[in-house]
Amino acid sequence: MNEVQKLLLDGEIPVNCYIVERNNECYIVDPGYQKVRIQNYIVEKGYQVKGILLTHGHIDHIEALDCFPVPVYIHEIEHDILVNNYNNGFSFFGKEPTYSFDSLNINLINENTILPLGDEYISVIHTPGHTIGSVCYQIGHDLYTGDTLFEGSVGKWDRPSGDLNTLRQSVLKLVNSQPDYMLIHPGHGRSSSIGIEKQINPFYREWNYQKTNN
Ligand SMILES: [Zn+2]
Repeated sequence: MNEVQKLLLDGEIPVNCYIVERNNECYIVDPGYQKVRIQNYIVEKGYQVKGILLTHGHIDHIEALDCFPVPVYIHEIEHDILVNNYNNGFSFFGKEPTYSFDSLNINLINENTILPLGDEYISVIHTPGHTIGSVCYQIGHDLYTGDTLFEGSVGKWDRPSGDLNTLRQSVLKLVNSQPDYMLIHPGHGRSSSIGIEKQINPFYREWNYQKTNN
């Protein structure tokens, strides 16, 4: 069993940054804030960083996106959210990125993308709704769910390209297609599991009830 490595990063909206590591290689999921803290963590561990995985393009997940000069992976239809300071939320907080998006090595991905890590693979699940190109990343028994699925809740749908009906479909697809033992590691808050969310998540329960009784 691989240990889940999480940095709770401090910023306007505290966010979970995950270091997904196998055989001393790693991807960084959602480097939200505190660039130096992320850099120090990686250097101390001695990991080789293969890339940065974004669950979506919002400011609280990307402000330290230049922490390492490595490929950045984001869903192909999320690119316009990422690089636009209205869509990504920078202007909402009256800020600007400290880096230029043009200087980043941005790689567009979709559900066909497979990213090797050690002797395992990371796969991509497209879960639109919080934003149009939100994704979850899966490796082994771990799901990194971004702002799609939280412990006991779901992401907001009031930001650009957010849509409640789409979010509902994504949450139902995700929870109903994954085994109960899968662990979920959200962008905010504590980890949980698919089985627990089936029992306690009021959004999932209400939406699943509506779906099966209509
Ligand atoms: Zn978000």
